[in-house]
Amino acid sequence: MVRSLSGSEHTGSGHTVAVRVVTAPGFTMSVRQLVERCCIEGDLHATTGARVSGREGTRAHQRVQRHRLQSWGDDYQSEVQVSSTFALQKAGASNDQVRITIRGRLDGLISSPSDGLIVEEIKTIRGEPDMIPLTLQRLHWSQVMLYAAMLLREHDHEFLQSVDGVDTSAVVLRLCYFDLQSGEEHIQARAQSCEQLSTHLTDHVDRYSDILRKDWEWQRQRDEQLRAMSFPMQDYRPGQYELSRVVYRTLRDQGMTYLQAPTGLGKTLGCLFPAVKALSYLALNRVFYLTARQSAVANAERAMSQLRSARASVRSISITAREKVCLTPGARCDGEECQYAKGYYSRRSDAISQLLATDAHMGMFEIDQVARSHRVCPFELSLDTARHTDVIICDYNYAFDPVIYLRRFFDDPPAAGQALLIDEVHNLVDRGREMFSATLSTAPMKQLVTDVRSDEFTLVSPADEASLMHRLGPTLGLAVTEFHEILQQVENSKFDTHTLPAALLSAVRELCLTIETLLFDGVSGSQFDQPLHNERSDAADDALLSLYFVALRFLRVSEWFDESYRTLVTRNTADDVSVTLMNVNPASMLAARFEQASAVIGFSATLSPKTYFQTMLGGGSAEWYRFTPPFPSSHQGVFVVPYVSTRWRDRRASADRLVDLIEGVVQTEPGNYLVCFPSYQYLADIHQRYVQRNPTEHVLRQCSDDEQGQQQDFLDAFENASRAVTGFAVLGGRFSEGIDLVGRRLIGVIVVGVGMPKIGPERDLIREHFDDEGMDGFRMAYQYPGLNRVLQGAGRVIRSEQDIGIICLVDGRFARLDYTTLLPREWQKITCQDQETLIREVTRFWKNVTSDDAGDEGHRGSVDECVHVDEDVYVGGD
Ligand code: SF4
Repeated sequence: MVRSLSGSEHTGSGHTVAVRVVTAPGFTMSVRQLVERCCIEGDLHATTGARVSGREGTRAHQRVQRHRLQSWGDDYQSEVQVSSTFALQKAGASNDQVRITIRGRLDGLISSPSDGLIVEEIKTIRGEPDMIPLTLQRLHWSQVMLYAAMLLREHDHEFLQSVDGVDTSAVVLRLCYFDLQSGEEHIQARAQSCEQLSTHLTDHVDRYSDILRKDWEWQRQRDEQLRAMSFPMQDYRPGQYELSRVVYRTLRDQGMTYLQAPTGLGKTLGCLFPAVKALSYLALNRVFYLTARQSAVANAERAMSQLRSARASVRSISITAREKVCLTPGARCDGEECQYAKGYYSRRSDAISQLLATDAHMGMFEIDQVARSHRVCPFELSLDTARHTDVIICDYNYAFDPVIYLRRFFDDPPAAGQALLIDEVHNLVDRGREMFSATLSTAPMKQLVTDVRSDEFTLVSPADEASLMHRLGPTLGLAVTEFHEILQQVENSKFDTHTLPAALLSAVRELCLTIETLLFDGVSGSQFDQPLHNERSDAADDALLSLYFVALRFLRVSEWFDESYRTLVTRNTADDVSVTLMNVNPASMLAARFEQASAVIGFSATLSPKTYFQTMLGGGSAEWYRFTPPFPSSHQGVFVVPYVSTRWRDRRASADRLVDLIEGVVQTEPGNYLVCFPSYQYLADIHQRYVQRNPTEHVLRQCSDDEQGQQQDFLDAFENASRAVTGFAVLGGRFSEGIDLVGRRLIGVIVVGVGMPKIGPERDLIREHFDDEGMDGFRMAYQYPGLNRVLQGAGRVIRSEQDIGIICLVDGRFARLDYTTLLPREWQKITCQDQETLIREVTRFWKNVTSDDAGDEGHRGSVDECVHVDEDVYVGGD
């Protein structure tokens, strides 16, 4: 039964009876969201909607609306708000209702005695309306019908009756496709009776109610079980209970919290347990577990299985990147090219039901199996199923990247009661910058020109090539010229990095339009006035598409350019110039998403100094907590080694001493060691010397171009070592962060250098930005990010309460006050001024730690030592 809150109740037959419901909880959705949820049918279609920017769409709407006003005068109204509210009764509980408000805005409404009532929806396109996929056209018609039905319903027919002389037996619906290219309006119209419109609206709400009721029934059962669920492990680890309490409190208070908690405390389960529990107690509908790396996905999935083993009845899903799960690689995502896109919308319900029926976590494998059996796209299936799940595990991208974020969860109005758990949140600084920046260079443009002319780039006929170049050549040429213009300005010191390169943007926009025309419309005006799409080779499509997407992203990013952006121009080679719209501080962009979430919890082992992360991640009112390690500090020996300088200018001179140091340390205790370097070049140099001097040792080296298989070999050597291994890796790379080598798999890390990012124009722009803001730009751009890498690398050693190991910090700067004050205070550091002292101290550590069993000695983290961070506890002189 669908109940109206605005004075009438729909019975499903189009008749209404009076009813008033006052205090039902509820939510709001847009007309488009309603249509997409329950009536879309047909094929998936490759999105070409990106072809019209928001600004262009608004201008086009205003133009059509002005035109209508001139024609219809007082009979015309634009931007008419409509809204309908319904109360849905939850099954089995007579007073248990939920209020749903559907909102929309009519583009135009005409009420005239001569033409009756006309409801118009305007869509801005480029090209002819018959290019628009059928699925989308149906969706547009459904939308305009709903607007008209809501208008009638809202005014309860009084509106119609008050318009003298207007024929109210039917409403004329118009879809106006406005072509930006030609400036033409393509109008389609159909008449619908009030009865038909009312039925259309009721049908939609009823269908949506059915979907919701199934979800509610699931949630009712889930909540009963979750309330009885207890922590899945025998005991909390020290500090883990306190961490869980902080998470629960944040969810309850709908706040924002950053947690710095060391490895071994059990952060993943410690965060997921209270979040899952909260689903049954709080106004929380969904939890996003956001990760920076694939390896963290596996941790979260493991935690979900642990919760299931404690009889947590909870639906959880992992969303994997489209290119990793695609069943037709290389095909375009539409019914013409991919069998899994064809008829997708007609088959997806059964596939979703099958997936939801499983008790297990819905991971990549499970989704793939169901997608194949129902012949639906696995990626789209994962997204559509995610709507019905409680926990979504996915990459940061799906929440934050402004181009690929999941609109269905975060678009206006965003779904209510969604919390973000952000794993390894320190990564969000660099990932945020990456997601909010864009680079475009001349190389792919010049390559495209060369490719089109080459033999491999087969076109059907020379005439096709002529057509292609006829259209593409001038726009590519214009864009390349603009690049060189800007470069000239930079070289003459006349370029202001604070501004957008307007002329270049206009050339790039033109380029995008041309490629769109080639890809989607054909070559009008040429002797081959037909779509090129079926004629061109795959290589041509790929080259055009890849340039198109890069250029499109560039245009998108330009729309967000503000004081947190700079324009960076780089001459890569004599021939290649690139322009980057570079986000220097992601905080304000991240804030937009944080505001849409009901609660945000970011956690990491390395979130200090607070000043740095607070500035970069934002969340001014966020609470900060620091948890001390759950293992005895005596399990970890920390040795500061200032007598080897790793500064760039000293590296050659200190190389032999560094090799001595590594040799000496690994010989104190047989086992696996990781040596972390600030660059591949430095790594390669020391590795070569080390191997020459130690030809029989098992030594591995990380290469910048390692394949996935080689990377796995590197890790396997630590996992399965029948002989001790020493691995050379780079700081900030995949082996110095995010790997988990528990116990004897890794007993020592030697960190060479302070981890500073390479000095370069990008980092210098960040430095300048923060200098301008009155902060210490050098620290923000170089020192703090470097320190974070150091702490991440050092954090590989102790992964559990039983682990024992050493950390050597090699560089004179580690002994300086501005560094020692930034290191974790529980580290009991021993500074060694020469090799002899170092080896003696490390040997002493191993001897003591093994003979004393080291278990009860030293500092051990506990619940009481969860510190609420009001100030920068690690920062000296800040
Ligand atoms: S299977 Fe691949 S090509 Fe087909 S719709 Fe899915 S992602 Fe696109």
